[in-house]
Amino acid sequence: MTHHHEIPSYLKHDDLGPWGVYLEQIDRVTPYLGNLARWVETLKRPKRILIVDVPIERDNGTIAHFEGYRVQHNTSRGPGKGGVRFHQDVTLSEVMALSAWMTVKNAAVNVPYGGAKGGIRVDPKTLSQGELQRMTRRYTSEINIIIGPNKDIPAPDVNTNEQIMAWMMDTYSMNQGSTASGVVTGKPISLGGSLGRHEATGRGVFVVGCEAASQIGMEIRGAAVAVQGFGNVGGVAARLFVEAGARIVAVQDHASTVVRAGGINIAALQAHVAATGSVAGFHGAEEIADREQFWGIDCDILVPAALEQQINETNAHKIRAKLILEGANGPTTPGADDILRERGVLVVPDVIANAGGVTVSYFEWVQDFSSFFWTEDEINLRLTRIMREAFGTVWQLAQEKHVSLRTAAFILACTRVLQAREMRGLYP
Ligand code: NAD
Repeated sequence: MTHHHEIPSYLKHDDLGPWGVYLEQIDRVTPYLGNLARWVETLKRPKRILIVDVPIERDNGTIAHFEGYRVQHNTSRGPGKGGVRFHQDVTLSEVMALSAWMTVKNAAVNVPYGGAKGGIRVDPKTLSQGELQRMTRRYTSEINIIIGPNKDIPAPDVNTNEQIMAWMMDTYSMNQGSTASGVVTGKPISLGGSLGRHEATGRGVFVVGCEAASQIGMEIRGAAVAVQGFGNVGGVAARLFVEAGARIVAVQDHASTVVRAGGINIAALQAHVAATGSVAGFHGAEEIADREQFWGIDCDILVPAALEQQINETNAHKIRAKLILEGANGPTTPGADDILRERGVLVVPDVIANAGGVTVSYFEWVQDFSSFFWTEDEINLRLTRIMREAFGTVWQLAQEKHVSLRTAAFILACTRVLQAREMRGLYP
């Protein structure tokens, strides 16, 4: 499909990246939106973009400047919601795409949020703890004018965690003059975080994985699973699959790829990563030097849980899995989607597969507002129910319309967003 989009003037044509992927996904859903297609341009333009300079004093006395972003893609259904990424490759077009996928995801699982995302273009591994804290606090102060418990609620993403959420909550609260725990989710439990939030995204991947597997007659027990990205999402998903009797035959992270057909000891690998920072040098599996080989690994289930555009037209034909669970946001390009569909590989799209995180973030936010906290069992039960329902609805829609699960999820979500847009009407 070719693009006939009007590209916003602040983006160059050759800088579309993940935003280009997202625009193509919107093109693919538009024919199914009926009269609401009149509003579809709304989805192709972020509502609000903030670019901030984040200066800090380095430990050695020099001054460093980082580029930070917060994009509020859509707030038709509620306040903005979405993570904050610290990564050396963060760009405006990437944050725009991630914010847009949050709009779609929040509508797909029907939590009362719009979509937003933030990021800083930085490799946090090059910062000391003090520098990381100063950068996080300055970034939070700079985006303070557009975030808030009723406006836009950040959360963790790649290279951000509970500690960073605690600093963000504290900085916002200091600026406001009172503690506002509901301004971010993914906080430590002691500061109004939710039980089960740390595991929620990986757990959601596992829950929809079980649903999808049962639809195609695949047993989880004994299944071979390959995981790209061994952080919050990939690490938890891997553990839950092992607990259900599957074996993890390959893990790839930013530094290396480890494989073991008989199954990798995930607890041992997690301990190794905690100690060394990556899977490289792990003795409990074979390390392979050629990163591309990961895609051709013999497995039943593939879980991309790292970055965007990993599964593309150059490697989609190598994939031997029957089921792909998108833990990451935007891991599959539209061209790869076509190849996989042709080859009969079922792809459970990011906007459903990794929605467990924002679902429990929603629970956290509700708990913060009511200052009444739920048990972990209650949270996991509600999470499982929402994930199963969302998967079931999307599965059925895909059957009815003869479309992929991604297009079905987009039909469901974009209809909800644009209905809200239409009912609210345009101001003034
Ligand atoms: P994380 O920082 O905890 O882990 C990221 C992992 O990806 C690490 O293991 C890292 O080594 C690996 N990685 C980085 N670059 C890589 C590369 N080029 N090739 C292979 N592996 C690479 O991050 P996370 O929170 O687990 O997020 C992973 C993905 O899941 C992202 O796409 C994120 O947007 C998505 N996601 C996260 C959440 C959440 O709640 N944290 C929710 C929904 C979606």
